[in-house]
Amino acid sequence: MTDSIKLPLICGMMAVGGWLLLTARRRAAGSGPHCASCGYNLSHLESSRCPECGLVLSPDTISDGPPSRFSWGRFWIGAAMVFVPAIWVVIDFGMAIMRMPTPPVGG
Ligand SMILES: [Zn+2]
Repeated sequence: MTDSIKLPLICGMMAVGGWLLLTARRRAAGSGPHCASCGYNLSHLESSRCPECGLVLSPDTISDGPPSRFSWGRFWIGAAMVFVPAIWVVIDFGMAIMRMPTPPVGG
């Protein structure tokens, strides 16, 4: 692979990987009222208690979306996309040193 395509590819992979890491924990906002305790969807609920966990519902215990979840799949893909190019650069650098002609001894 040529160096001209390698650098943007590595930067791109690390940028996408970093973005995946930063967004691994995210909340699906604006998808309707949800129980703040268990995340049960309260969109069509008329009672004042959560049918799932029994929490008494008030504006404090109703959240505007499901609870934020940490996505491990997203985390690991992001981690791989950051570290694989980093390791690639290190290996490439090591290979470049190995390829260097040995300096003359006792020059
Ligand atoms: Zn609940």
